[in-house]
Amino acid sequence: MSALTDLNKEIAACRKCEIAKYRTNIVPGEGAEKADIMFIGEAPGFHEDQQGRPFVGPAGQFLEELLASIKLTRNQVFIANVIKCRPPNNRDPLPIEISNCQPWLEQQIQLISPRIIVTLGRYSMAKYFPGKSVSKIHGTSYTLNGITYFAMYHPAAALHQGNLRSDIIKDMQKLPDLLAQLKQKDTHETRSQPEPKQLNMF
Ligand code: URA
Repeated sequence: MSALTDLNKEIAACRKCEIAKYRTNIVPGEGAEKADIMFIGEAPGFHEDQQGRPFVGPAGQFLEELLASIKLTRNQVFIANVIKCRPPNNRDPLPIEISNCQPWLEQQIQLISPRIIVTLGRYSMAKYFPGKSVSKIHGTSYTLNGITYFAMYHPAAALHQGNLRSDIIKDMQKLPDLLAQLKQKDTHETRSQPEPKQLNMF
């Protein structure tokens, strides 16, 4: 069994937060075990909670279209969320829920070792682009300890707002070139595993 499957089992048994009581299924995340690109959304919604899979509702359908536009499927990337349980009535995740869930996300990142982490929406952006506004920095990236962080609008927001929709489509188009550049760099430098990081608190 893979380390990621073992980790998923541990995540599935997590009951650190009150909201664990209300979940139908926990939603650890899914995709390629050694994905080059990892997408991190906010929290499971109704459909995700029903199926135990991330981004399977309308926002997920749009994410799949965006992936298809760069010739990728969801199985070729890894898709996760900042928190793994659905907050009741889709309320915003609480700081305590985010910090309780943080070690799971960190372990996923360690195992998957993505070259690029794409933040989708406020909560993953707050972690990797603290203090920044998505309207200013979407489509931009920076690299730290071997991982390149790339900010995008959340597909749910972009789905219904015409101007954001064209921005998210354009931002997604930047990913293949960014990945190709990072791979090209690897031919010059050996890629090292990122150091486990001290985590920012939200
Ligand atoms: N929105 C998210 O942030 N994550 C999901 O899994 C679904 C919708």
